[in-house]
Amino acid sequence: MRYPEHIWQNGAIKPWAEATTHVMAHALHYGSSVFEGIRCYETRDGHAIFRLTDHIKRLFASAKIYDIGIPYTVEQLNAACREVIRANGLGRAYLRPIAFRGLGGFGLSADCPTDVAVAAWDMGPYLGPDVLEAGIDACVSSWQRFAPNTIPAGAKAGGNYLSGQLVAREARRLGFGEGIALASTGLLSEGAGENLFLVFDGALHTTPVSAALLNGITRNSIIRLARDAGIEVVERDLPREYLYLCDELFMCGTAAEITPIRSVDGKQVGEGKPGALTRRMQDLFFGLFSGKTPDTHGWLEPL
Ligand code: PMP
Repeated sequence: MRYPEHIWQNGAIKPWAEATTHVMAHALHYGSSVFEGIRCYETRDGHAIFRLTDHIKRLFASAKIYDIGIPYTVEQLNAACREVIRANGLGRAYLRPIAFRGLGGFGLSADCPTDVAVAAWDMGPYLGPDVLEAGIDACVSSWQRFAPNTIPAGAKAGGNYLSGQLVAREARRLGFGEGIALASTGLLSEGAGENLFLVFDGALHTTPVSAALLNGITRNSIIRLARDAGIEVVERDLPREYLYLCDELFMCGTAAEITPIRSVDGKQVGEGKPGALTRRMQDLFFGLFSGKTPDTHGWLEPL
């Protein structure tokens, strides 16, 4: 990977190579970081960061769950996101704000100062170059998501991604594009780093936040775009076999955007190619950036 030139860390833009931390930082040992993934898109009216404020608010929500104090305001971190894109001369970009317990003592409950950084780089489709058109082949992982009374899935915290790594790496090892995890209940949860939508009879069905998943901002955007367009959306618990029986299936997330799934566990989903409603949701979503879909919710925050 070619690294960008600059990064924002603890209040200032600095050269990428200087954004270091100590090997005894709390987060490195105990997973005590919270982070975000945000995309900046080229739009008809210049570059815009998609739901920037909602993402930064979620960063603060994740930090609240773990008592990680963030010594900045939402507005300051919004400004940091814009600054780091500009400092790197980027337009289209993926942003990665992170806050973590740094160096400051030993032990789980140590009061460590919080380090905050924001990186930005240009990133294409997360799951492969042509997946938005072609779709991917997914599998159900042998690893389950954590139970809701163990680790809160609603926090986008570094430690949660040990689960995601097991699911994603197993899938890749077995030759699949991405893994899907079941919750501890045995019902469907989500992808390693993406939420799930199943289509039945022209309606969208997505798993509920009680199914050990991250309440994705893309998921929320899809629900709202669909309802705006008069498409029925149902949030419900779903069993594994519905992955094989649905008419269409797709994953979504900031990184994955809207990625169609053409098979699960080697079984063809629907017609084995991106379906009509999946295409429609892609059109509505990407239409926000081309101007075809009006931004009625104020989601495009100018760079
Ligand atoms: N689930 C998990 C586990 C994720 O890591 C992500 C990506 N942040 C998502 C769902 C999708 O969330 P969002 O749409 O907010 O990016």
